[in-house]
Amino acid sequence: MKGLREYVIPFIGPKNGLHHFNFEIGAPFFSHFPDSLIRECGLFVDLAFDKKERLFVLNFDISGTISTECDRCGQALDLPIHGNHTLYVKKGEQPEEEDEEEDITWIADGESELDTSEWIYEFIHLSIPVRKLHPDLADGTPGCNPDILARLGHNEDQPKDSDPRWDQLRTIIKDK
Ligand SMILES: [Zn+2]
Repeated sequence: MKGLREYVIPFIGPKNGLHHFNFEIGAPFFSHFPDSLIRECGLFVDLAFDKKERLFVLNFDISGTISTECDRCGQALDLPIHGNHTLYVKKGEQPEEEDEEEDITWIADGESELDTSEWIYEFIHLSIPVRKLHPDLADGTPGCNPDILARLGHNEDQPKDSDPRWDQLRTIIKDK
């Protein structure tokens, strides 16, 4: 994909062993994904790339914040997210009898590089908590603006309905 070259790892050059790749992810990254529900964000991905003879182990450590809206009060929210996802890339033909395991990807022997951008995109979305809320205050009350909550007639036990767009996205990710 154009403009995402920096997320492509050439694996012929580096010798076997552990390598680290660090990526800063912001709005320009997500502009390449029209379906993304994340736009503004400040995220860091530490990719630990363990190169073995016929197997690569990729561990994506994700941290930072995304700009979104609070599910409770609807106001802007810089939501901290953290995620850690491991993926295995095997070289060669995928054995036919082997059940498709979701964390194993196969690449042909002739390949020389891995485009990690789709995985980074997917893993960041998987790292978003189910409920996106302003954190509670020290005394346990919601961290949302109390005036806005009062105006919404907020009731602690009745959270705003989940956003159908997010539900849809989760289904898509789960089915992949
Ligand atoms: Zn809130």
